[in-house]
Amino acid sequence: MSTIPFNQPFAVGKEFEYIRQAIKNVHTCGDGPFTKKCHTLLEQTLGVSKALLTTSCTHALEMTALLLNLQPGDEVIFPSFTFVSTVNAFVLRGVYPVFCDIRPDTLNLDENKLEQLITPRTKVIVPVHYAGIGCEMDAIMELAGKYGIAVVEDNAHGLFGKYKGKYLGTIGCLATQSFHETKNFNCGEGGALLINDPQYIERAEVIREKGTNRSRFYRGQVDKYTWVDVGSSYLPSDMLAAYLYAQLEVQEQIQAKRQEIWEYYHKNIQDWAEKHGIRFPIVPDHCEQAYHMFYLLMPSLEKRQALIAHLKAQNIISAFHYLPLHLSEMGQKFGGKEGDCPVTEDVSDRLVRLPFYNDLTEADLARVVAAICEFD
Ligand SMILES: *Cc1c(COP(=O)(O)O)cnc(C)c1O
Repeated sequence: MSTIPFNQPFAVGKEFEYIRQAIKNVHTCGDGPFTKKCHTLLEQTLGVSKALLTTSCTHALEMTALLLNLQPGDEVIFPSFTFVSTVNAFVLRGVYPVFCDIRPDTLNLDENKLEQLITPRTKVIVPVHYAGIGCEMDAIMELAGKYGIAVVEDNAHGLFGKYKGKYLGTIGCLATQSFHETKNFNCGEGGALLINDPQYIERAEVIREKGTNRSRFYRGQVDKYTWVDVGSSYLPSDMLAAYLYAQLEVQEQIQAKRQEIWEYYHKNIQDWAEKHGIRFPIVPDHCEQAYHMFYLLMPSLEKRQALIAHLKAQNIISAFHYLPLHLSEMGQKFGGKEGDCPVTEDVSDRLVRLPFYNDLTEADLARVVAAICEFD
């Protein structure tokens, strides 16, 4: 029996044609014609002031830490239930990470536990829209406003998802996207910085272009370009932008496919899940999810491990994540200890993610569902 992987990179069709075009354009470095097409598409669809492609979501997050002038000793609040990069990009600047627990329903940063973590040193809150389902942004923005704290949305999972009618990634002053192979839209490795507060645009262009004012130079706004600030090389090749553009331009088709997969799982596993006390993802009525993943919350760690092994025996690969960051080797160096984030610790033991990628066929899906429904 063939293996159904957990994830598989996909191409929708025009990627190769566009990469060939990028080579023909004789502009393969960053900020070429395809990068501009991606920027315009993201800006127009989402309605953000500025979108800038980056080499990864990790790098876009690093850019936000530079843009917000974070200094050693500043505190930033993160959910403990997230990918390493959400936090590491800030720790790189000497930031002290403060971990907040998650809500038991959406597994997003628990806004009710946020205020008690705020100190005079708190500079940023980084909500992560887990599984592409929006955090309670109204409450988070209100608290941030009250204390004068910036909000950076890690929207790696949530492109084109919405919270109360607003696109995710358009609410905080800055937001980041990922186009890694495992995300809804991909170019292998890639990301984007979304800028909602226009005061950051000019400096973001400089930081992304090695600390130079090259972007202004190309627009004819200065007559030579030079070193003006700190920065790095955060812009992807136009060949990668070409690959990405082929996917972004058919975003509706891709999202519709992912919605079908999510709904297939939801519908066909429901009876089994109810019978076994297994919980599905919860999407609040005021959120339109981005269909990034489908997970199950099993009754225990033992059951979770047994289900993963049961599926593996039938060549179906499922996966778990995230190990609570406050209990990781690095997290413990920052004082993290067991019991700090009880919901995160519990969910991390019980969550399992089912195969989810754009090319999953109906036959694959039927096989996964049949295998799951056999499990007791
Ligand atoms: C994938 C992911 C990242 C990192 O994305 P890269 O593009 O691989 O750097 C950051 N945060 C979250 C929540 C992610 O899922």
